Amino acid sequence: MELRTHSVVLEAEKCKGCTNCIKQCPTEAIRVRNGKAFILTERCIDCGECIRICENHAKKAVATDLETLAHYDYRVALPAPSLYAQFKVEKPEKIIAALYRFGFDEVYEVAFAAELTTCAIQECVENHPKTNAAGPYPLISSSCPVVTRLVQIRFPSLIPNLLPVDPPYITAAKIFLQERLPRLNIPREKVGLFFITPCPAKITDLNNYGQPLVDGALPINLLFGELNSLLPEQGTVQALPLVHHRSGGIGIGWARAGGESWGVNAENALAVDGIQNVARLLEEIELGKFHDIRYIEALACPQGCVGGALTVENPFVARARIQKLAGRDGAHTLSNEVKMMYADLKRQDAHFFTHDKGIPDQSVLRLDRDLAKAIEKLNQLEAILAKLPEIDCGACGSPTCRSLAEDVVQGNAQMTDCLFILREQLEKLARKLLILAQNRPPAMDWANEKEEENDP
Ligand code: SF4
Ligand code: SF4
Repeated sequence: MELRTHSVVLEAEKCKGCTNCIKQCPTEAIRVRNGKAFILTERCIDCGECIRICENHAKKAVATDLETLAHYDYRVALPAPSLYAQFKVEKPEKIIAALYRFGFDEVYEVAFAAELTTCAIQECVENHPKTNAAGPYPLISSSCPVVTRLVQIRFPSLIPNLLPVDPPYITAAKIFLQERLPRLNIPREKVGLFFITPCPAKITDLNNYGQPLVDGALPINLLFGELNSLLPEQGTVQALPLVHHRSGGIGIGWARAGGESWGVNAENALAVDGIQNVARLLEEIELGKFHDIRYIEALACPQGCVGGALTVENPFVARARIQKLAGRDGAHTLSNEVKMMYADLKRQDAHFFTHDKGIPDQSVLRLDRDLAKAIEKLNQLEAILAKLPEIDCGACGSPTCRSLAEDVVQGNAQMTDCLFILREQLEKLARKLLILAQNRPPAMDWANEKEEENDP
């Protein structure tokens, strides 16, 4: 089993054991025991749903703090396109200016890298075998790390459908390190590369990438207040000499659901957002549907990355803003600069935009790796489930009756964790106690006679 670090954690002292989060988790990764929640890390896909739902703010994302910026002489911001949707501005340049005012020495737009990623996806889709038999179809974007992880642990049969193209935040960091850093003439350890992220999953993905790419990830909601106060006044954007490769509309559009597939412009593409919708769609693909669809853009957050768990703005408002900004920033075409840079990077390394390491099957939802044992456990599970009320009340601390049955089979819970079973057993015990209480020892039979005499 691959060892991963995670970005979503529980602050136990804030948890009141309310069980609200256990039902929202798409992989049933949360349990509540002894009045506190805990996360089964091997199941967690860092989707952030539990951060959104917890009213006690007991779940949080582990990210970089602002003090870390001071450790570097030269600080580079890699802003996710969704950052642009958080502010009421007419052009992204103002937000980039605010990043400079905040203290970054350079801004390297992830939206620009998204345009190069668009070229890579177009090429992969184009070169993919045209029939499902040689396929497979539909191809599924691996741009959202939550979806990739969900496929790995819950729908491993769909791993071959995942397109092996790195997401834009990985590509942006790689390009900076390869193309820009050597020209800076500053030692690598003095340059701090900071991704500004809308979600915890991208932090996890960067942390587990296999080679260190960035020096930190700053949540959008951590920077928002400060950046908002640093936005330039109407029409007064200062010169921005170190914004490399200003992104066009296609790159900015990646922040919203439908933006990626709009950019890729593949025939017969589909865009889906929201983790439950994505899970339902994957279930249907597993059942053999949608072979006629060529490309699926699947994003875990509502309305796409603009709805990430670490953003600030309402996702619908944010999506509308992105649509406006993307419209302003160019028609449905990639610039010559993008196309030339894509070709150049590919010439240097044919796999620059793709991961050839393969995506491992991380299924943790099977009962046992040994098939015979798995079947035996499944029979036990069904037998236990038959005794449970199947109302999925969650009072036991497991999200469903089925998951409690599974926890019992795996030795992680007891039948009596179910309140109904506990009551049944107490009732049986009470009846036994009553019978025992009425049974007098033979030597005291006179007592029974006396009781009979006293009866009216
Ligand atoms: S981050 Fe998502 S997968 Fe992980 S525990 Fe929270 S809801 Fe479950
Ligand atoms: S949709 Fe975007 S913001 Fe949400 S989890 Fe996926 S990559 Fe992160």
